[in-house]
Amino acid sequence: MKNYLSKKAQGIVPYVAGEQPKDKKYVKLNTNENPYPPSPKALEAYKNVAFADLRLYPPLSMDKLKSAVAAAEGVSPENVFCGNGSDEILAFCFSSFFDPDGQGAAFADVTYSFYPVFCDFFNIPKVIVPLEEDFSQDLSKLQKTSAQGFVVANPNAPTGMGIERDVMEKFVAESGRIVIADEAYMPFFGQSAVPLTKKYDNLLVCKTFSKGYSLAGLRCGYAVGHPDLISGLERCRDSFNSYPVDSVCQAVCAAAISDGAYYAEKNALVISERERLSKELSRRGFFVLPSRANFVFAKREGIAGREVYEKLRERGVLVRHFQKPRISDFCRITVGSAAENDALLAALDDFLR
Ligand code: PMP
Repeated sequence: MKNYLSKKAQGIVPYVAGEQPKDKKYVKLNTNENPYPPSPKALEAYKNVAFADLRLYPPLSMDKLKSAVAAAEGVSPENVFCGNGSDEILAFCFSSFFDPDGQGAAFADVTYSFYPVFCDFFNIPKVIVPLEEDFSQDLSKLQKTSAQGFVVANPNAPTGMGIERDVMEKFVAESGRIVIADEAYMPFFGQSAVPLTKKYDNLLVCKTFSKGYSLAGLRCGYAVGHPDLISGLERCRDSFNSYPVDSVCQAVCAAAISDGAYYAEKNALVISERERLSKELSRRGFFVLPSRANFVFAKREGIAGREVYEKLRERGVLVRHFQKPRISDFCRITVGSAAENDALLAALDDFLR
């Protein structure tokens, strides 16, 4: 067949998401989903969506969802952008705030592996700044680059390590350039930079309903920042798709984010399981990075990360392994329910024996 693909479509190397195997039922601890169900209020909203109304396009202005997000975050609706998952919002960020063939987007060497993919897709130079030996991030090293702006995952993925709000504030205040804070895992840390968006017009915070709100299947995320940043994102969005967030999603996410008490309780359980899992892994000889997320990043001297992944998979437990420089010894393990975490530990004990 003649090759009808554009050069871009031929050459692009896409992001690889965690596997979703169908061969058998796994204890699935590989894609950082929340082990608890969405809030009962979200379920109610789901049931109340009028099926017949789905013949109509979704509300263009997303008023109800934006107001609910604004109320939960303590900002105004004009500070809020909603999208089809935070991955989509991040894609819009790369095209809204970074110029092709400009000074580039700066981010860590070990961070969310979608960032370099977006750079390649939009022809944005990558300015890669290594994390410290202990995988902490010295933001002053980003600041020293001549990049057009910065993308910082906080907590970081796949390390799980977090940056305190006052450290982030110092960086945002001094950077003088756009800072995208990717706070996908912030519900498990509680140091969000959202309050800083009132003071700094160069800060955009991206969040998601996938992790802290147990709604990964719906695909919804939001960003908070100065209205000028939001309208830039909207112009990019409207150049792709005016209606990325469907009616069902808008209704369910508005209800979910209004039920903060439910999620505070469930996410506290995730945090306490994270601490237990970290201790149990350490007891089994693993080195575990201090996690502020809903996953832990761990390695054991003398066993390759790939082997840990494979031995667990054989025993019906899925974790994530990245065959990449600096981190190939590690596995990233999502914090599951107490029962799922026990199943992981039992599978580890079985193979370590
Ligand atoms: N940022 C980070 C750091 C992530 O790990 C993820 C999940 N893969 C996302 C953003 C995207 O989340 P979603 O598109 O589900 O909102």
